[in-house]
Amino acid sequence: MAKNVNFLFVCPDAGKVFESRAFSILENRGVVVDEGGSKILDAKVALDEPCPFCGRKHVYHASELLCPYRESMTGK
Ligand SMILES: [Zn+2]
Repeated sequence: MAKNVNFLFVCPDAGKVFESRAFSILENRGVVVDEGGSKILDAKVALDEPCPFCGRKHVYHASELLCPYRESMTGK
């Protein structure tokens, strides 16, 4: 995974988005195909630093994350 990339996370309590690059990938089972036929990464992503809004270290499923380069890769 590329370094110096901030991922966008959503605090489930505050409902607000924040950026962080301090996270770890857990339980990485690779790419799977979901019920709708889209490819998703079957892994969990755990914050290594507390959420700026509620102070907890959230754990997300990879499919919940907003990957910033999904859009930037399409370019202009
Ligand atoms: Zn939070």
